Amino acid sequence: MSSILVTGIGELTTNVAAQARPDDHRDPTGMLGLVDDAAVVLEGSTIAWVGRASDAPAADTVYDAGGRAVIPGYVDSHSHLVFSGDRAQEFAARMTGEPYSAGGIRTTVAATRAATDEQLTSHVARLVAEMRAQGTTSLEIKSGYGLSVHDEARSLAVARQFTEDTTFLGAHVVPAGTTPEDYVDLVTGPMLTAAAPHARWIDVFCEEGAFDVDQARAILAAGTDNGLRGRLHANQLTYGGGVKLAAELGLVAVDHCTYLADDDVSALADSGTIATLLPGVEFSTRHPYPDARKLIDAGVQVAIASDCNPGSCFTSSMALCIALAVREMRMSPAEALHAATAMGAQALDRDDVGVIAPGKRADLVLLEAPSYLHLAYRPGVPLVAGVWQGGRPVVPGP
Ligand SMILES: [Zn+2]
Repeated sequence: MSSILVTGIGELTTNVAAQARPDDHRDPTGMLGLVDDAAVVLEGSTIAWVGRASDAPAADTVYDAGGRAVIPGYVDSHSHLVFSGDRAQEFAARMTGEPYSAGGIRTTVAATRAATDEQLTSHVARLVAEMRAQGTTSLEIKSGYGLSVHDEARSLAVARQFTEDTTFLGAHVVPAGTTPEDYVDLVTGPMLTAAAPHARWIDVFCEEGAFDVDQARAILAAGTDNGLRGRLHANQLTYGGGVKLAAELGLVAVDHCTYLADDDVSALADSGTIATLLPGVEFSTRHPYPDARKLIDAGVQVAIASDCNPGSCFTSSMALCIALAVREMRMSPAEALHAATAMGAQALDRDDVGVIAPGKRADLVLLEAPSYLHLAYRPGVPLVAGVWQGGRPVVPGP
């Protein structure tokens, strides 16, 4: 197995909690476990050694980072990449005053059903490559634009070619031509049977205009019976019982969490369910942002993800999400980076990624910057200079 010594790292984010440094604005609580003048040894697909460059062992090849910063690859725990067509017209309409509603999903469903497997696969491949070039090395992909037994199963089979974290979201919206009752029967019956072999997770869009709490509970229970683990889209557009359901069921994560009552926040803090915030959605729909500060101050675990999808948020940039989290949601730069990496991994119940430590997968992002702070400090600037994914240089460094 060949080894690479990545040395000359000006600032390394490990996400291995270290001593608090209240005077260091980069990481006052120590959550990022920063190491200055650092080096990392990659051996095959994993990390073999992390520490000060002056202490580094020898390796087969040496890469000099030239004083640049290195962070763990982003873990994007929420995306909807299997679709066809785009909704740029709908976006333009929204920007000129029309509100967003869950029904816009049906536009994408028609285009997705009409696409061939090859078209869907090449489209996902293009988006995954776009994400990788921006530093995302792990991601979750949902179905949810097929909404028939055949189209949900093939959407997941396509997604499975790109990640093990695939999520069955047959319960995205009730398709035209069926009743909610009949559709829930389909989702919990034949559709689930066809989807389950290709999925790790099951998800429900629990929202007015989509599925209510009782329907979500039934769908998640059916998924669990078929070996899938639950997650939930909840409280995105309105107040409701979705977040409390996620906490009650002890789900790993509940996503959106934009409209939260006080008892939603305490339920999340008590359950340990991670609140995955998706600030690109609020940015792209001109909705108010979730109150990240209130969540974190209440002891809720917070992740951030892209929600990359053709309707409410068509960005694949985790760096943009970090910038929004810091500038619009009052997260500290350290909290935002941690939420986009280590917490994204936890939201997928993954312990092999999101952290730079011996034994973890060798997913590193080299930044064209002396510090990760530039991700929020220089919004919109492409700062990814190199990416190693599983030890392979998928974006060659300078
Ligand atoms: Zn979503």
